[in-house]
Amino acid sequence: MADLASYASHSDTSRGRRIAEDAPAGRSEFQRDRDRIIHSTAFRRLEYKTQVFVNHEGDLFRTRLTHSIEVAQIARSIARRLHLNEDLTEAVSLAHDLGHTPFGHAGQEALNVCMKDYGGFEHNLQSLRVVDLLEERYAAFDGLNLCFETREGILKHCSPENAAQLGEVGARFLNNQRPSLEAQIANLADEIAYNNHDVDDGLRSGLLTLDQLSEVRLFSTHLDEVRAAYPDLVDRRVVHETIRRMINTLVSDLICETESNLKRFGVQTLSDVRNASAIVAFSAELQEQNRVLKACLRTNLYRHYRVMRMSAKARRIISDLFAAFMEDPRLLPPQFAHHAEADRARAVADYIAGMTDRYAIREHRRIFAVEEIQV
Ligand code: MG
Repeated sequence: MADLASYASHSDTSRGRRIAEDAPAGRSEFQRDRDRIIHSTAFRRLEYKTQVFVNHEGDLFRTRLTHSIEVAQIARSIARRLHLNEDLTEAVSLAHDLGHTPFGHAGQEALNVCMKDYGGFEHNLQSLRVVDLLEERYAAFDGLNLCFETREGILKHCSPENAAQLGEVGARFLNNQRPSLEAQIANLADEIAYNNHDVDDGLRSGLLTLDQLSEVRLFSTHLDEVRAAYPDLVDRRVVHETIRRMINTLVSDLICETESNLKRFGVQTLSDVRNASAIVAFSAELQEQNRVLKACLRTNLYRHYRVMRMSAKARRIISDLFAAFMEDPRLLPPQFAHHAEADRARAVADYIAGMTDRYAIREHRRIFAVEEIQV
């Protein structure tokens, strides 16, 4: 990390942890954060949580775990090229989805509806809650006691009402400031990762077709290139070659645009980063192409009737479970039942949000299926 840029985050000058700890031996503070995230329970559960497809639909589809690893890979490549802190961007990337409910966005929307009279539910805030509070592993503190910079990076968006309750980690939303470049990179690496792997998974599932994607310039330019260079290549390889070119194009464009913004805004220090407008960005041209790709995914994949059916089931499972636990918190496992004494709705939401797809399905069966013997 010797050749970090003057505006990079440094773990030696971190704003520290909420509970002071001795400096780690042989690794940096941000490496320690990354390591704690990887060893957390919530991180392991990402393997059985989905983005678009439910976990049991097939072994080849992305889960939140493989998604998070892809985000970290893309973010680290960008950070290295820009002489930024790879460890911090990796920690933020690996933690960014820890608060996700089972069943992707359908699950998060359902839980938010259930929680509307109790402060709502937001996966991004929940990720922070996981690392600040819910992991129970260490003797001296709840949560993972991560550095300020990692926590701030995890909190991508936040309403002013919520920010006001979060103390220093929410302050930037009230002061109109930006987080570190490392956090900004993790945020856009997330977008690059999911747009591209949803194309891949969408095509593999057969819900999305090459015909639909031929309307999307970001895809079709690269598809034509691959077909011209390798006329006899089988479709699976054509798709992979196309997607890897798309990722490359987006990453290169982002690096180029970010470098030009750094110059344009005269950024020298971390404080310049925080006070400038967003620096890590795509060019206007690629941003537009990306928007068209997202619209295509929304229309043809996320709203496909088979995905909608799965989402409807997910909503039912989440709202049934929420209602059952709210009505009778004695059905909760002991550690959540204990928390429910202070705040029943939040304890129920924490329990449900922590479930994997298959655990939620089984729990639903255990509670509602009268023929189920194992409870
Ligand atoms: Mg994500």
